[in-house]
Amino acid sequence: MDHLTPNDMSAVVEADRAHIWHHLMPHKSLETTDPRIIVEGKGMRVWDQHGKEHLDAVSGGVWTVNVGYGRESIANAVRDQLVKMNFFAQTLGSIPGSRFAERLIAKMPGMSRVFYANSGSEANEKAFKMIRQISHRQHGGRKWKILYRERDYHGTTIANLSAGGQDERNAQYGPFTPGFVRVPHCLEYRASDQGWGDLSGEDYGRRAADAIEEVILAEGPDTVGALCLEPITAGGGVIVPPPGYWERVAEIVKKYDLLLHIDEVVCGVGRTGEWFGYQHYGIQPDFVTMAKGVASGYAAISCMVTTEAVFEMFKDKPDDHLGYFRDVSTFGGCTAGPAAALENMAIIEREDLLANCAAMGERLVGNLEALSEKHAVIGQVRGKGLFAGAELVSDRAAKTPADEAKVKAVVADCMQQGVVIGASNRSLPGFNNTLLFSPALIATADDIDAITASVDAALGRVFG
Ligand code: PMP
Repeated sequence: MDHLTPNDMSAVVEADRAHIWHHLMPHKSLETTDPRIIVEGKGMRVWDQHGKEHLDAVSGGVWTVNVGYGRESIANAVRDQLVKMNFFAQTLGSIPGSRFAERLIAKMPGMSRVFYANSGSEANEKAFKMIRQISHRQHGGRKWKILYRERDYHGTTIANLSAGGQDERNAQYGPFTPGFVRVPHCLEYRASDQGWGDLSGEDYGRRAADAIEEVILAEGPDTVGALCLEPITAGGGVIVPPPGYWERVAEIVKKYDLLLHIDEVVCGVGRTGEWFGYQHYGIQPDFVTMAKGVASGYAAISCMVTTEAVFEMFKDKPDDHLGYFRDVSTFGGCTAGPAAALENMAIIEREDLLANCAAMGERLVGNLEALSEKHAVIGQVRGKGLFAGAELVSDRAAKTPADEAKVKAVVADCMQQGVVIGASNRSLPGFNNTLLFSPALIATADDIDAITASVDAALGRVFG
């Protein structure tokens, strides 16, 4: 534990209460309870201000700390880099920037260029801007629309929310940016709401992708420039696309000459047991964005990665002020990001964490499925790698979403037991009812069993 006296710690808590605006939090609850301060972390575990130990099943709350806490080799790499050269705008280059780009591209056949930024939202904005600029440069501005999917999330800015498929996040922030058009989700479990009849497996997968084509035809194929998708939807409820989906998406992308932008902010850098989520599906994107796991939260870094073909499109008129991508991200020039990312990637390789992620992911999903035999409230378990969700329903046959207050009570009960799990976003029926799990890629079988044992106990207490 940190060497703060109890008085020092009370001062920290009071300063938090007085001055911190916590993320995603209705602050009323802090009028009656203390904010929880996370003081220290090691491996899969963190300790709060009371010295209480928590097993972290969500990698820092938002699927970020892929290699776990307390990694001295990353801290040392960052320190060494910072004392040598901490920052220069990415108009010029840096040693860790070049090295990490080379290592990253080696994991992404077909991709070629890395644009550094500092958050997932910002990386997505960069891709949207390139897509718009390509529409201007190649298609006279006509192919300006970008398709996005119901239940996907791409970030917090107004443009990203305009491409956001979770309506409850958008309330009261409008008006939004024009040119983003929604396509239906691909969650077979909730297919009955979509009016396509009783389809399952590959039939459903292809139908859900056909729905993208229907939107393109309704909008006018000449006006649609790109399709932006999460490989596996994260905060929208861990939606693993059904068989046949991605194959049909690839056909549609080709047929309508779309740019394919894959948002790997959550799935990227090992979370699903491959380096990138799209690599499970044999698809070839034009843009890949990533952030959270790139440096596991040891430094802020995001990357917008694209192909040499896209890069070439921006090179053909060097004398024209529109002849290049006139964009910048100040903190894309922080060298701490790529220095941390290089060591983060080296750890994943050295410790064979992709294999561990795949094996432990199977155990996690298997354990949750076993719990579903005991607890009728678990409607469906979904996941790939150490990235899983358990959708809770109050009536299995009708698939009625479980009451939001009870879902929150399960999360709170696990917290009480010393296990941190998550739940999908609040406020919309059918949206707020999935328990989320994304332990670090270093999780052991004992960690996984402890996580699911806590869920077992919590479900028993909350749902009886
Ligand atoms: N894309 C996805 C899929 C995400 O889950 C998130 C963050 N939860 C973002 C983008 C935005 O990333 P950031 O919060 O770093 O801006």
